[in-house]
Amino acid sequence: MTDATPGFRDIGDLKGQAAVISGSTSGIGLALARAVATRGGDVVLNGLGDPAEIERTRAELAASTGVRVLYHPADMTQGDQIDDMVAYAACELGRLDILVNNAGIQHVEAVENFPTDQWEKIIAINLSSAFYATRAAIPHMKALGRGRIVNMASAHGLVASPFKSAYVAAKHGIIGFTKTVALELAQDNITCNAICPGFVHTPIVDKQIDDQARTRNMSREDVMKNVILGSQPTKRFVTTDELAGIFLYLVSDLGASANGASFSIDGGWTAQ
Ligand code: NAD
Repeated sequence: MTDATPGFRDIGDLKGQAAVISGSTSGIGLALARAVATRGGDVVLNGLGDPAEIERTRAELAASTGVRVLYHPADMTQGDQIDDMVAYAACELGRLDILVNNAGIQHVEAVENFPTDQWEKIIAINLSSAFYATRAAIPHMKALGRGRIVNMASAHGLVASPFKSAYVAAKHGIIGFTKTVALELAQDNITCNAICPGFVHTPIVDKQIDDQARTRNMSREDVMKNVILGSQPTKRFVTTDELAGIFLYLVSDLGASANGASFSIDGGWTAQ
């Protein structure tokens, strides 16, 4: 007697599947796009950046993996463009198995001086864009009979740090959104989970090192040692490969019962 369901595929087999990943022109999103493509899945990239550089990234990923790699330029502050991105992915790739709500920005400033436009932008990109993309993706996933929604939250979805009010609010919000979507779709073979990384050395963190140095009047070196890695017990950055590991589990058939959960990949930060 075995509880293995016939037709289950192992972790890491994404042949024939289709994914759309917001904010995948750099950092974590690009690493997850690479994880999908190298395992046989087609993928739509999205994000900001120099168009020639984005095209080089897209073409290189397509050539090195042999899958279809497309790009959609939706601005994650614009609901209609997000709807269009999801429709484009489903139409061009013929199906939609995986949605990753990953685009995110940061602004570091004391709450009493926090600029209104930065607050609005962070809530729009880090939280509301996930609502638009998820709403648009659900009918395609229901039509397919399966789906995987992965939201890139943060350790800051579980605990706070000073000077990051908008980011912490948005990331706490995305965890609540994740739970609600998971409950609504639990009987549709569609899961929704959040990944909560600690610090990963990507452009968003590099900019924070500068911002923190300015806000706290510290050197870049001190910020790295005492602020950034100060909260991470392993005293090293989380790697994008480590995030790809949990991501591949969540989108696999074996991840079918992981639902509405938040996975801390933070070197022990939130265990403190
Ligand atoms: P990154 O800056 O390398 O990537 C962010 C991506 O979002 C880029 O592709 C960028 O073009 C895109 N983006 C930004 N504004 C956009 C907009 N208006 N429309 C479309 N795309 C937009 O940063 P990253 O570290 O790879 O961050 C990815 C996600 O991981 C974010 O949600 C971030 O909050 C989260 N995260 C990062 C860390 C870390 O330490 N790097 C830790 C926890 C969570």
